[in-house]
Amino acid sequence: MKTWDVIVVGGGIIGLSLAISLRKRGASVLVVERGEPGREASHAAGGMLVDCPLETSPALQTLATASARMYPEFAHELEVESGMKVDLRDQGTILLLRDEQEQQGSDLVPVELAAAEPELSATSHHTQVLFRKERSVDPRALTAAALKTAKNRGVDFSSGDPVTAVNLSDDHVSGVTTAKTSFLAEKVVNCAGAWSGQIGPHTFPTHPVKGQMLCLAMPSRTLLKHVIRSPKAYLIPRSDGRLLVGATVEEAGFDKRTVPETIQKLHRAALELVPKLADAKILEDWAGLRPGTPDALPILGATATPGYYVATGHFRDGILLAPITAEVMSAVIEGRNAEYDLSAFSPARFA
Ligand SMILES: Cc1cc2nc3c(=O)[nH]c(=O)nc-3n(C[C@H](O)[C@H](O)[C@H](O)COP(=O)(O)OP(=O)(O)OC[C@H]3O[C@@H](n4cnc5c(N)ncnc54)[C@H](O)[C@@H]3O)c2cc1C
Repeated sequence: MKTWDVIVVGGGIIGLSLAISLRKRGASVLVVERGEPGREASHAAGGMLVDCPLETSPALQTLATASARMYPEFAHELEVESGMKVDLRDQGTILLLRDEQEQQGSDLVPVELAAAEPELSATSHHTQVLFRKERSVDPRALTAAALKTAKNRGVDFSSGDPVTAVNLSDDHVSGVTTAKTSFLAEKVVNCAGAWSGQIGPHTFPTHPVKGQMLCLAMPSRTLLKHVIRSPKAYLIPRSDGRLLVGATVEEAGFDKRTVPETIQKLHRAALELVPKLADAKILEDWAGLRPGTPDALPILGATATPGYYVATGHFRDGILLAPITAEVMSAVIEGRNAEYDLSAFSPARFA
């Protein structure tokens, strides 16, 4: 029976990026995905690459900034290897704030809206309008490019069959059991996102945090250039003229249905911010499940079971954190120095 060096459970952006990184260093890798790769949180995300000290938890800042810096190369490599575009944009973000905030990071600068984003209307509720250099990416395109890259590089895939257990032999990992079959590997890494806690032998305390979004067709492709974040909604323009409006943060179990009233509320918030969107067509709405954890930090590292690793709990930042997660986790799995202090993310904190 065929054996792999590493089995990655879950084909979201975290599992795919890690599979590519391991494969690049010569490991044989099998990704075992319950459904289709890249159709869950990584498909639902907005794709803002936020490492702003005002919004990023201090414990995550170093990894967030490192990952944001890796993005141009990460995206470029996926585009070249897959032949697909991922729409990495670097026009920056405009933050509309309600309260005067101390501008901790010197990278936030006041901006004149009329010049920067003429169609955006800040109301009297917004006491501060700040600009920040920041990128965004199209997560669906990114995930599709990562999937193609992984396949091109010889990562194997099993789709449509969930992992039901991680197998042990003499207390060491020996592979996984799925609903239909089993696969052999001495190393397994759990990248199952919001579902990570459902696979034994460790019950990681991940939980789903629902986010509803909608997508509008801008009347012109350049109606908005920047990502806009306001207290009621954020707006993410794509280069093809789509505009994403998001997002709720809800504890609703594994329910992925959208609620018409919630979508309308987001829609109204978008129209308030950009009145010229009044006639913009709604192209789509959807909901996805972010992998949340009790302390809102990811879970990264080796577990107490030899050969079993975890990379999950990326909550609102999994698109941003994909490159750095792939780098540090491939180091951990190969027994190299991860070059970052991962103690705040250790699975042992929940043991
Ligand atoms: C509305 C919304 C907006 C967001 N916006 C942003 C943003 O702007 N920027 C950002 O950085 N992040 C954002 N996020 C967060 C980001 O989407 C997630 O953190 C990231 O996608 C997590 O990736 P993942 O690979 O861990 O999870 P997922 O993409 O959910 O992948 C996990 C995979 O595991 C599979 N799986 C589950 N159980 C099993 C099993 N038993 N066996 C096999 N496979 C299994 C699933 O089918 C799934 O494909 C957003 C999320 C949402 C929902």
